[in-house]
Amino acid sequence: MAEETLRFETEVGKILQIVANSLYSEKQVFLRELISNAADACDRLRYLALTDSSLTKDDPEFRITLTADKAARTLTVADNGVGMNREALVQDLGTIARSGSGAFLEQLSGDARKDVALIGQFGVGFYSAFMVADRVEVLSRRAGEDQAWRWVSDGKGEFTVAEAEKPARGTAITLHLAADEDEYLEPARLRHIVSTYSNHIPVPIVIKEGGKIDTINAASALWTRARGDIEDEEYAAFYRHVGHAFDAPWMTVHWRAEGTIEYTGLLFIPERRPLDIFSPEREHAVKLYVRRVFVTDKCEGLVPPWLRFLRGLIDSEDLPLNVSREMLQHNPMLTRIRNAIVTRVLGELEKKAEADPDSYAGFWEQFGAVMKEGVYEDAEHRERLLKLARFRSTAGEDVTSLAAYIGRMKPGQEAIYFITGEEIERLQKSPQLEGFRARGVEVLLLTDPVDDFWLSQVTEFEGKPFKSATRAGADLSAIEKTGKAEGEDADKAEAETPPGVDALVAMIRLELGEAVKDVRVSERLTDSPVCLVSDEGDIDIHLERLLRQHKRFEDAVARVLEVNPTHPLIAALAGQAGRKGGGANVADAAWLLLDQARILGGEPPPDPTAFTKRLSAVMTRAMSG
Ligand code: ADP
Ligand code: MG
Repeated sequence: MAEETLRFETEVGKILQIVANSLYSEKQVFLRELISNAADACDRLRYLALTDSSLTKDDPEFRITLTADKAARTLTVADNGVGMNREALVQDLGTIARSGSGAFLEQLSGDARKDVALIGQFGVGFYSAFMVADRVEVLSRRAGEDQAWRWVSDGKGEFTVAEAEKPARGTAITLHLAADEDEYLEPARLRHIVSTYSNHIPVPIVIKEGGKIDTINAASALWTRARGDIEDEEYAAFYRHVGHAFDAPWMTVHWRAEGTIEYTGLLFIPERRPLDIFSPEREHAVKLYVRRVFVTDKCEGLVPPWLRFLRGLIDSEDLPLNVSREMLQHNPMLTRIRNAIVTRVLGELEKKAEADPDSYAGFWEQFGAVMKEGVYEDAEHRERLLKLARFRSTAGEDVTSLAAYIGRMKPGQEAIYFITGEEIERLQKSPQLEGFRARGVEVLLLTDPVDDFWLSQVTEFEGKPFKSATRAGADLSAIEKTGKAEGEDADKAEAETPPGVDALVAMIRLELGEAVKDVRVSERLTDSPVCLVSDEGDIDIHLERLLRQHKRFEDAVARVLEVNPTHPLIAALAGQAGRKGGGANVADAAWLLLDQARILGGEPPPDPTAFTKRLSAVMTRAMSG
């Protein structure tokens, strides 16, 4: 087949542009990326060879070979792994199959410095070769196939593929180094980079200098060594390889289980949340090995979805090696390993929460929203997860645990109060919180979409029921007011409902009809004239809005409009309500108050024309009156 020229997928083009122009200071990581891919390719072939030994018969020893050619100014990274055929070359090197790339590209700003930081987070894998090379040649032959292929690109939008000759399986990636990159021709420099970044890749990395061949990494599987013998830096380097990650691990959990089932676990919690952690296709990335042989990184059921941020591996001594990946899923041993992973990780998190609350709060900020999915879907671990959960609240800037919240509850307070919404700042200003503030009652401020869901499942924590502050029947009367700064009008609210308010409430109820479920005198408001709450037993306001956004909910549920009897506007309206001719004002006011309550709750008035008409009418009457 003649040479063909193809264009990179648009996304790859964009990434290549940033890579080529970036001032990325750690260019040497390109070598780690190429070695990491080469090691993965060896791992994959080692697994395939279990069922088809002919694939590796000609050359059973896996290795990665580095060759620097000073005369040609090329560096070649070669492996005898699984190799790529034409389809794989076009697909794997021409598109980004990696999850999260869409989210990554959306966040790019065009500002080189910011984008470099993002690249650092996302990583560009194979394309990092173009940081140091102005032309990259990939010569590859898939194990078990005869035809080899050559892929060539200068990283500027196009690549070519053509048939080629290659005597043995695997991939050789040749970098034609750019003008200033001669350092990567120096064996000493290469050795240094390998020992820094790739020492514990479980495949030997050899360097060819003249006729001499030298193994330059430890090539032992890191996880088989004792914990005490492993430096943090070694763990971090291994984390980057196994997790395809670019940050550092926040926590490392390394253990060996002996007894009825034997396995080693080496798991990492990243420092930062990957960009696509909430995308529906996102799966966990813990790899399964069996007696040092990589089996799969898509072992469903190995890790529960709410721990999908874990990176690392499980290496089992007992699982059968020659079993299909599908069969693996139903293996009872796997269920036991999964339970052990959960227990381990939760245990370590509990320790960390105790020993280093600040660092733990940082972890929770990154992954709390994911862990809370467990509260919702995993009844077995619900209690432990609720204890580990941290929340923002009206008590201050710091996050709090539920136990600490309960410790601060007021005399007479029976429930754990919360409010859900999109933004902390907005929630803090919610009119529904005024009465809670006046009484010094703390309210949890919840802004993760998942909060509405787990709160619809979980009714209590340590005997204290969860109650929404935006729900009717939040009984505050039993709690004493504190009468501090913002509670200064507290006494007023304590007074009897002023005369005429009951009549006003009845008139508003009549006027609004079906638009509201009820109109009631509020005990939760101190500053605002009105607010909307959901009736006891009805769906929570914010949850309804979320469901409607996701088209999972059609009809709007009628809400309860609460009026603040101590507010001057309500008092004035109450005065009018009794008077002859006051009806027109009250009618307009009723609708305006309802729209006001909606706006305060973050929703636009459903009929903006009617809203502005009424507002103009009322203003006109006020001006001319
Ligand atoms: P990632 O390693 O995170 O998947 P990369 O950009 O590093 O992303 O690599 C893209 C893909 O190209 C790999 O997933 C793999 O399928 C393929 N690939 C890259 N290098 C090799 C290699 N040496 N041998 C076989 N396949 C490779
Ligand atoms: Mg890679």
